[in-house]
Amino acid sequence: MTSTPSPAQAQTAKRTVVMGAGPGGLCAAYVLTRAGASAVVVEKAPFVGGLARTIRRTTAVGEFKFDIGGHRWFTKNDELNDLFREVVADELLWVDRVSRIYFDGRYVDYPLKISNALTAIGPVTAARAMADYLRTRVQHQLRPQPIASMEDAYIDQFGPTLYQLFFQRYSEKVWGLPCSEMSGDWVSQRSKGMSLVTAVKDAIIPSRGKVVSLIDNFMYPRNGFGRLSERMADGIGAGGNAVRLNAGVVRVHRQGRCVTAITVNTADGPERIEGDEFVSSIPLTYLAEIMDPPAPPEVVAAATALTFRNIITVNLMLRRRQVTPDTWLYVHDRNILFGRLHEPKNWSPAMVPGDDYTSIVAEYFCSFGDAIWSMTDEALVERTVRHLVKDLRFIAPEEVLGGFAVRAPRAYPSYVLGYEAPLATVKAFISAFDNLQIIGRYGTFRYNNTDHSIETGLLAAKNILGESHDLDRVNSEQEYHEVKRVPRVAASNA
Ligand SMILES: Cc1cc2nc3c(=O)[nH]c(=O)nc-3n(C[C@H](O)[C@H](O)[C@H](O)COP(=O)(O)OP(=O)(O)OC[C@H]3O[C@@H](n4cnc5c(N)ncnc54)[C@H](O)[C@@H]3O)c2cc1C
Repeated sequence: MTSTPSPAQAQTAKRTVVMGAGPGGLCAAYVLTRAGASAVVVEKAPFVGGLARTIRRTTAVGEFKFDIGGHRWFTKNDELNDLFREVVADELLWVDRVSRIYFDGRYVDYPLKISNALTAIGPVTAARAMADYLRTRVQHQLRPQPIASMEDAYIDQFGPTLYQLFFQRYSEKVWGLPCSEMSGDWVSQRSKGMSLVTAVKDAIIPSRGKVVSLIDNFMYPRNGFGRLSERMADGIGAGGNAVRLNAGVVRVHRQGRCVTAITVNTADGPERIEGDEFVSSIPLTYLAEIMDPPAPPEVVAAATALTFRNIITVNLMLRRRQVTPDTWLYVHDRNILFGRLHEPKNWSPAMVPGDDYTSIVAEYFCSFGDAIWSMTDEALVERTVRHLVKDLRFIAPEEVLGGFAVRAPRAYPSYVLGYEAPLATVKAFISAFDNLQIIGRYGTFRYNNTDHSIETGLLAAKNILGESHDLDRVNSEQEYHEVKRVPRVAASNA
């Protein structure tokens, strides 16, 4: 006689297939593994970590390590912080953060500290900035304006002068389009609750509780951010589940409201993998395009209308102790082709082979086929060295031990004006499936950081284990990411 399985046993008896081994997908499988459930992760690349991986380069002087642009861990969510600590464990470091904007030969703290920004631009421009900000506020009070574009959103928060000085040039480098053609959603996701008004109010009357800054230091794994993913993958393997590399999903088979299987391309040819539950962190646009039978034409057309920006990082290895004190330096000048740089040694000394060495990672934002994406890797390295030597005067040419470029397609979902309608069409199609959840950054076409990507993976796993969570609520809170308001009593103890 067979006994009926309990609800908990029934959940853990299901087999989950996770597509993509970035932090989001790995977290889903890690949580399922911890609960004793069966899961397999399939990953197109020969490594785990996705955009949040760490690359190692061995040279005659030792090993250099590079993230795809520096990745720091920060979140207000205690459960996620606990998970990060559990995974990274003895490799955990606390890093002090110093981020600045470089523009026209000057430096300003980032995120903007109002007094510092106003001092840097001088009294005349500062007076103009305050006056046109106040004028904008009065106008918006008298005649409320819809905030449609990125330009509208920045001007609403900071006024025209500060927008032009500190946001316009950098945003246009990142997105490759005028801010008037980008949706204001990105601004509200990145800097909601942050404006000149709140900065001044918080300085004078901290009425709604103390603002605790999350920006002064952050957690980071000693040997690079990719260790978070590598250690989750180790945990998945140790728990009896698998992460399969070089296994790119090329088909998602569906029947009625269910996904039944996927096909992956492997070195031995195509392979069909069956499952009960499916979690996808591969690009949402691609997921819609590889359905079998195909998704309706309007869904495929909507997927094609959604676009991404790519990033190329140029990694330079240097015989020099330090270049800047910064965690990140945002470079606004239009004649400098990269948008941001960081110095991995300032994050962890273990990122370079010894104290006599350092390195620089420069970030180039681009789109398939544009002038930057079309440059050869050698030209990008040469260009980076030229900017650092001649324009910024940060290094001498003889200090460069070598360099290489890494291309990361689809790094940024582009919130181009009007993106909401095609996105809603694709999401409506996907959400009709009973056993398919989308998570992560390009998996949901949402500008998610690692913590948000991990949170969607965590909640997807909990849903499979019998809980009920709405993944769309992740990264939709109303407070600026980088501050946490705590009740006044708690704040006084903080
Ligand atoms: C320059 C830069 C700096 C950043 N800095 C920070 C930071 O400081 N802090 C922070 O929290 N976040 C940061 N992020 C964001 C962070 O990288 C992402 O939030 C996170 O990596 C998203 O995780 P994910 O699992 O959703 O996706 P990804 O990391 O993109 O992983 C998706 C995985 O899916 C795989 N895949 C794609 N197609 C297929 C397929 N067909 N079949 C199988 N596998 C497939 C990919 O190879 C990849 O491994 C930064 C991002 C960039 C670009």
